[in-house]
Amino acid sequence: MTTAQPIAASRRTDRTIRAVLFDIDDTLIDYQSAEQQGIRAYLRELGVPGCLDDEARVWKRLQEIHFERFLAGRVDYAGQAAALAADMLDRLGLPRPPDPYRWFLGYREHYEKHLMVFPDVRGALRSLSGVPLGAVTNSNSEYARHKLHRVGLIGSLKCVVGVDVAGVPKPDVRIFHAGCAALGVAPEEAMYVGDRQDSDVDGAHAAGLLGVRIDRTGSVAGLSDLRLLPEWLNANGWRLARDSSKA
Ligand SMILES: [Mg+2]
Repeated sequence: MTTAQPIAASRRTDRTIRAVLFDIDDTLIDYQSAEQQGIRAYLRELGVPGCLDDEARVWKRLQEIHFERFLAGRVDYAGQAAALAADMLDRLGLPRPPDPYRWFLGYREHYEKHLMVFPDVRGALRSLSGVPLGAVTNSNSEYARHKLHRVGLIGSLKCVVGVDVAGVPKPDVRIFHAGCAALGVAPEEAMYVGDRQDSDVDGAHAAGLLGVRIDRTGSVAGLSDLRLLPEWLNANGWRLARDSSKA
């Protein structure tokens, strides 16, 4: 959590949104499904028996632990992936190969085969025609672009800002500011949409953006469908500025 104070909407003189930045994983792309289906397919291919429910749960937890080390700057992306693979092989009781990162890349192929955008995403991006759009992610920029290309979204986004570009992960305000700078807008003119309250919504608010949470289960306040974003802004007293020449 950041200690910076959020800029209250009431302090804004012009409630106009000129650009929209998105989180990627579990906001645009269904990361959780791809991760769970990917590890199950990989382990099946490797001959691991059983229904694999426990193994998939262990993989999810280990991914979180090792990725946190990457976000904290204690290890690079390949280093955390190699340590993750080694840890998983130990849990499975399988021998570690000489290069655990290659084992991880085997998983990643299966993960990528299962990557899908959520059903509301393409319609949402169409509903924002004429508005500059981008992504700010706690992933590596190049890999994020690769994933967005794979699911056919890269052409809709004017920028992809990852931790390697910003030098810090969300919720640090600097990564949000890097996204705004890439789209040529002030933080107060931008909104950020993500699936997490702490790193996405609270981080964006602290950086001066309008932060909105997407929760497709509808269990928390925010958006339950990205296609409702223009309507949500309007209902909450915001104006969405569109460049009609780019519509
Ligand atoms: Mg996310």
